[in-house]
Amino acid sequence: MKTRGLRIRVQGVVQGVGFRPFVYRLAKRFGLTGSVRNTGEGVLIEAFGDEKALLAFLKALKEEAPPLARIESLKTTPLEGKAPSEFLVLESQGGTKKTKIPPDVATCEACLAELFDAGDRRFRYPFINCTDCGPRFSVILDLPYDRGKTTMKVFPLCPACLSEYQNPEDRRFHAEPNACPVCGPKIWLCDAKGDPLDVKDPLAFAIEALREGKILALRGLGGFHLACDATNQEACHILRKRKKRPRKPFAIMVKDLAAAELLAELGLEEKRLLCSPKRPILLARAKSPSPLAAEIAPGLDILGLMLPYTPLHHLLLREGDFLALVMTSGNLSGEPLCVANEEALTRLKGIADFFLLHNREIAIGIDDSVMRFIAGKPRLIRRARGFVPEPLPYPFTEKRVFAFGPHLKNTFTLTREDEAFISQHLGDLEDLETVRFFKKVRAHFENILHVRPQVLVCDLHPGYLSTELAEEEAKKTGLPLVKVQHHVAHAAAVAGEFGIRPPFLALILDGVGLGDDHTLWGGELFYVEAGAYQRLGHIFPVRQPGGDAAAREPWRMLLAYLYALYGDKALKTFRKLLPETFWAKGEIVFKMLARGINAPLTTSTGRLFDACAALLGVCYEQSFEGEAPMLLEAMAARAQEKLIFEIPLTVKEHLVLDTRRLFRLLLEHLEKYDQETLALGFHLSLARGFALLIRSAVQQTGLKRIVLSGGCFQNKILADELLRELLKDYEVYFPEKLPPNDGAVSYGQAIWASWKLKLKG
Ligand SMILES: [Zn+2]
Ligand SMILES: [Zn+2]
Repeated sequence: MKTRGLRIRVQGVVQGVGFRPFVYRLAKRFGLTGSVRNTGEGVLIEAFGDEKALLAFLKALKEEAPPLARIESLKTTPLEGKAPSEFLVLESQGGTKKTKIPPDVATCEACLAELFDAGDRRFRYPFINCTDCGPRFSVILDLPYDRGKTTMKVFPLCPACLSEYQNPEDRRFHAEPNACPVCGPKIWLCDAKGDPLDVKDPLAFAIEALREGKILALRGLGGFHLACDATNQEACHILRKRKKRPRKPFAIMVKDLAAAELLAELGLEEKRLLCSPKRPILLARAKSPSPLAAEIAPGLDILGLMLPYTPLHHLLLREGDFLALVMTSGNLSGEPLCVANEEALTRLKGIADFFLLHNREIAIGIDDSVMRFIAGKPRLIRRARGFVPEPLPYPFTEKRVFAFGPHLKNTFTLTREDEAFISQHLGDLEDLETVRFFKKVRAHFENILHVRPQVLVCDLHPGYLSTELAEEEAKKTGLPLVKVQHHVAHAAAVAGEFGIRPPFLALILDGVGLGDDHTLWGGELFYVEAGAYQRLGHIFPVRQPGGDAAAREPWRMLLAYLYALYGDKALKTFRKLLPETFWAKGEIVFKMLARGINAPLTTSTGRLFDACAALLGVCYEQSFEGEAPMLLEAMAARAQEKLIFEIPLTVKEHLVLDTRRLFRLLLEHLEKYDQETLALGFHLSLARGFALLIRSAVQQTGLKRIVLSGGCFQNKILADELLRELLKDYEVYFPEKLPPNDGAVSYGQAIWASWKLKLKG
């Protein structure tokens, strides 16, 4: 048969995932000659062989690609010239235009087997990896993805590692972070003061310290964790005190799947997610009684758990035989994650008893991702390790856009042609440390993607740091600045993710965002067009006394709802409901309400949850954002009885769901039902009420395409109920690739800007 040549261009996630050795092995299998190399746009293959072999090769390329690879396009063109005598793997060619940056990947089974094999040269080596696993995004300094452009460049390969690296038959062929005890990074220990400890086996020492109830600062893949024995009540208590984190749940890392099953109710899909190469923290229902310390998640019936994802984690948990370790972000409450050794030794001083450090530098800090099953599918609560920097689609290729994101749970979005790169979770843009982190991560994204923005986008709120940054930059550079209402950005994010085009209806249930009318929104129903929207409906507006203070102190919202219902008589009921310690404060807040001073109107659903949590005595003051609604949901989950109240809908200028009435009904039934039943009743009634609101808007507009999002949809009971109800009749979109919370806002801002820019033409 005649020999033909074929040039094959493959795009997608094809670098850093073992794609070239895979191509090499296939070429050998089908007796082809030629070459394969990485380019700035993906992988380029030149293959020579007979027609049949080439076809079989193409088929196998698509069907047998390595587990971490994702082929997005595969284009072939005929190739003239003489066939070479062998098949070669060539060095990378420059250019970085379309290359995907792979996310970090959990240790694979083959590497694990070697890690615990006493005869293997990498026995107990904490940095073992191969082309199927290991660090990627967290070590990449530039593209194309080659060792010389990662933080591994300072470790020249030893002869043994080099021969693996160069051998296309080897599992470690071009595994860029390849390393071994002879040539690679190392771990060592420091004491609480930061002085290095001269111990023979730092790992064994760290395990012993954890067993004794000590707190270990552990340098991991994307930054530091603070770890302690999750079954040790005293250790967890000390960690909470030192970290200044009184009640916010701690994530735990369990030894293996069996340990996970011992601690949480897990379905098949949940187990699969826990074991996936992305290894997120999964929020699952805790089993009771539990061997874990009560301090892990006080008052909650959900547990955030993950499986080990680096060799060091596996070693710690297996050799220490710990059921579970607390693995909470290595930071002081509210600050960004510690990444560098020196930084951790300073900032975590006074928290950690020991520091387990290493010298594989982290290019950019990245937290663990958090997921929860809501309405039958895994949803992101925090998008970071394992997901970033996988892009989402972007419908506007003409201009490169930078969206600054929201105030809390900030991420930014940078677009490049038809892709939008959403940063990892960056934290609340409230302090200088987080702003510095924001700027650093942004510079990193712009560098590795080789992109500078041409349009800027930010929130409407003039007081946000993100808005300030955007305005400063627009002034300095002269770039156009687009402003987007917070909840409209939420809606646009969902549309962008699913590629749906306006018009559609969007119900956004959220904490807070500034509305067009200068009141605080957060329970809104919109009619969204491309670049324009109408506010069709919302929940009943009440006052939010003290502004932000009311978001931290649910008792204020309780009083606000009482005031909306009973006016001057509100204080009397307030005194009946709350302990005496709140009475004096109540009087001051009452005056704010009565005079309308520092008490803006709000339609925030988050604040409604807060008020209900206070009404049922679940939470008067929050120690972290979202505590009251989480406790309320936990209480509802324990209910034995179902109770649903009808919430009336009034139709005037807007559709208004009279949630004030729901509040009154709960109040009137306080004596008749237990708290759990009322808590569940609150959720179910709200879900039904919102369904009614949507049905009414569908009737008004004729639109049956519904988008749901906003932070309140992290609440499983509300989301499950409402989706079930709406899916019967409508086309419903609910976020999958981004969180329903503010983590999605920057992407939504970018999507909104694309619609606006297209309108302008
Ligand atoms: Zn591996
Ligand atoms: Zn080596």
